[in-house]
Parts: sequence; C-alpha cells; structure tokens
Amino acid sequence: MQSKLFIGGKWAEPLEGGTLDVINPATEQVFHRCAAGTAADVDAAVAAAKGAMAGPWSRTSGHDRAGYLRAIAAKIEEQKQALAEIEVRDNGKPLPEALWDVGDAAYCFNLYATYAEELDGRQGEIIGVPDDRFQSRVKYMPAGVTGLIVPWNYPLLMAAWKVAPAIAAGCAVVLKPSEYTPLTALELGRIAAEVGLPDGVLNVVTGYGGTAGARLSAHPDVRKLAFTGSVPTGIAVASVAARDVKSVSLELGGKSPIVVFDDADIEHTVEWVMFGIFWNQGQVCSATSRMIVEKGIAPKLIGRLSEEAKKITIGDGMTPGTLLGPLVSKIQYDKVLNYIEVGKKEATLITGGARPSHLNEGYFLEPTIFADVRPSARIWKEEIFGPVLAVSTFETEDEALRLANDSEFGLAAAVMSQDIKRAERVADAFEAGVVWINCSQPNFLEPPWGGVKKSGIGRELGTWGLNNFLEPKQITRYLTRDPWGWYLKG
Ligand code: NAD
Repeated sequence: MQSKLFIGGKWAEPLEGGTLDVINPATEQVFHRCAAGTAADVDAAVAAAKGAMAGPWSRTSGHDRAGYLRAIAAKIEEQKQALAEIEVRDNGKPLPEALWDVGDAAYCFNLYATYAEELDGRQGEIIGVPDDRFQSRVKYMPAGVTGLIVPWNYPLLMAAWKVAPAIAAGCAVVLKPSEYTPLTALELGRIAAEVGLPDGVLNVVTGYGGTAGARLSAHPDVRKLAFTGSVPTGIAVASVAARDVKSVSLELGGKSPIVVFDDADIEHTVEWVMFGIFWNQGQVCSATSRMIVEKGIAPKLIGRLSEEAKKITIGDGMTPGTLLGPLVSKIQYDKVLNYIEVGKKEATLITGGARPSHLNEGYFLEPTIFADVRPSARIWKEEIFGPVLAVSTFETEDEALRLANDSEFGLAAAVMSQDIKRAERVADAFEAGVVWINCSQPNFLEPPWGGVKKSGIGRELGTWGLNNFLEPKQITRYLTRDPWGWYLKG
C-alpha cells in the first residue's frame, strides 16, 4: 500500500510533510499512514496535469485513450481480490460488496474505453443549419485540467466514475480521495503507472478536504471540477469554483423515498427495502431511507422488515457471512447515533438503535427502523447516511406522491406495486434523477446518474458522464466565394 502522493507519474513526499491516519472502522485501529497533501502539493499536481495537457496527450485519439482505459480495467480485474481487501479495511464494507465495487470499477473503465472510441466517430459531426451557404461542424475538446473530489462510501468506484470518463475525454486530472478512505485511489495511481499512462494524466493527492480539496476547487488552472459528496461541501466547492467560472458538476446527498402500494408482493418488497437501506451500512447517496407505505399493509410489512432486520449478520467485513459492516468513521458513527436519539423523541423505534451487544469495538450499529415518522421530523427530512429507515403511511396515490416529493433532495425514488400502469405513473411523477420500479438500488453504468434539487447539478455515467468532460466547439465555414453582403441587406 502506498503512502506518498502520485504526481507527474512519480511517488512524491508531501511538501509540508504531514500524514493522515488510516483507520480500520471494524477495529478502530490505525493500520496505515498516508500523506496529508496540502495546497503546495495540489499546485504541483495541477502543474503536472497542465504539463500533460500541453504535451502529446492532447493529440491522442479516442482510440489511443481507449487502450489505456482497457489496460487499467484489466489490471483492476487482475488485482480484484487485493483491491477489495484494501477497501474492506479502509471503509468497513463486507468483502462481497467490495468485490462487486471493484468489478464495477473495472467495467467502468472498459465502458469508457468504448465511449472514447465512439468519440472519434463523433468528431466533426455536421450540424444542420438553415442556410446552405454555411456548414457547421462540432469538435469535442477535452475540458482541460480537471479536479476530481470523491467521498468515502465507494472509494474506488466513485473515483472510477470520474477518472474513466475524464481520461476518455482527453483530460488530465487531479484526484482527491476522501481522507477516510485514501488507499484505493493511490492503487489506481500505481496501476496507471504500470500500464504506462503518460505522466501527469492522472495525479492523486491524498489529504484533508479543507486544505487539499479546497485548493483544488480554487486553483485557477483547473477548468473543470467534478465533485461527489455532501450538500454543504458541494455548495462550498461550487461557490469557490464560481470565482474562476469553472465548469462544475455536483453529485450530492439524498433522502430518497420508496413508495409501497398494498398490491406489492410483500416478500419482494421486504428484500428490496432492506437492500435499499442496509446495503453498504446505509451509506449510499441513493439509499431509499424513507418508506411510504399504504396504510392497510403497513403493520404486516413493518413486522416482516423488523423480523428480517434482526437476522442480519453484523461484523467485520472480512468475516465470511457478514452482511452489515461498521460505519466508516467515529464521526459518522456519532452522527448516526445522534440521529437515532433524535428519532426516539420524534417517532416509534421498531427495531435496532444501538451497538450490537456482541461487538465491543468498531463502529457497528444495528439495522434500525422507525415508524410513525411525521413529515416534519428531522429523521424524515435530513440525510442520516446510516442503516436507519424512517416509515410513514399514506391512503391515496396523491398523498404518497406529496410525501415522496416533499424533500429538498431529489436523487432517487422507488415504487413497489404489481399495477404496472400505476407504478409507471408514479415513477413519472417522482421529482428525482434516478427511479426504480419494483426494486431499489440496482445501477447500471450506461444510463445517466444524478439528482435534481439539492441532490446535484449535471449527470454522471453513460455518455452524459463523458460529455461532462468535453467542451463542444462549433466550427462554421462559409462554403461559397460570393460576397455575403450583410451590410447591403435592408
Ligand atoms: P464530504 O462532503 O464530507 O466530502 C466529500 C469530499 O470532499 C472528500 O474528499 C472531502 O475531503 C472533500 N472536501 C471536504 N471539504 C472540502 C472543501 N472545503 N473543499 C473541497 N473539498 C472538500 O462527503 P462525504 O462524507 O465524504 O460523503 C458522503 C456524502 O456524499 C453524502 O452526502 C452522500 O449522499 C454523498 N454522495 C453522493 C453520491 C451521488 O452520486 N450523488 C455518491 C456518493 C456519496
């Protein structure tokens, strides 16, 4: 495991010499130390990226870049087990989930290899204009030096969602992982070097948000910022970026609803609701953390959920059979415990709400369900980012939609019903960027991903993700030699 910074294709000590402790949330023990990069290191990384953009990298074709992306994907696949084990120690998630994430990261690099090749075919695209003396074509330019700031809940995968399209587009990037989970981003730097990605195209600066992240957002040579994280940090990043009129895309938080009608298949619903809120310890931006259930079936569904939640195996992510690992950090653990205390005053605790009695150390928490949650309750409105489900009931479809859409967030939403016409109608009416029918959370990398309202600006994944890192340029040519004579007209 690396502890230095990856800048200009080389491993570099942080200029101011700081370190950050990497803690295993299952044991609360420090197991590694990484460099705490500061503004000076970010400046060096941005300079390296700028140097790469000024060199042959900017003349590579999509086809050339696809070669690097596929080579990175192959290395990730080859080293899947080792990368997943690092992710488990760093983040706490169960190993099968980490293996899934790493596989998805490899898939992401392969997918953007294909998009990079397709980009060659899009170059020079002719755009019809209503005057046949002119021809307009579009050239797609890389956005330039790009800052990528990612969170801790899917450390490698969130990095892949940004690094792969940015490289496909021909950008040179500085990646700043979360201070809680810096390790797999550094592994990505190592892999980039192994496959011969030109120096400076991918730089990795580990460090704290308030120093390294803030400098990356403010650096005048960064032309594009892609950020995933919380709403307050997203606002801070976008505000700073506005000073230089940087292009910014934001993937922020959520408080997503899952609406359950009384004709839904109960056992399927139990499975999807549990997956929607307990997967990754509930630390999922799109987690369906608000269940809005039709009154008639509420007691039965809540009863079944409670039974199943109690059966979930909680433990170290490396222990076979673990379904729920620890929360990522002490700060996150305390934050979620605090929300549980708030919830006890605002609603009815159905199950969970405490540290499991068999686990004395680690940031472990029982899967928790609150019922009778009012729309004004904090646990209904605010993103908890932990394994805590808030339940409310409805009597009409209109009421369900009102409750679902009454949120400052708009990342995701789900509906469970066997009446497909109704489910489609509700799906259309959700104010959200991602909607699931009769499921919650499955995510493919080809469709667009992102939120409305305070959940973000722009879309990642698919070709939308690639477009994030491209600047289209129109080139319009006058096709005739005749004088146009605009000044003679009228
Ligand atoms: P966070 O906002 O605390 O941190 C995100 C990143 O920003 C980290 O790398 C951090 O170091 C950096 N940062 C912190 N302060 C900064 C500053 N002033 N300037 C620049 N960078 C700074 O978020 P988190 O706790 O790491 O992640 C959890 C949040 O991320 C949740 O709100 C979750 O919903 C959201 N999230 C959203 C998506 C999505 O696709 N919409 C995906 C994953 C996570």
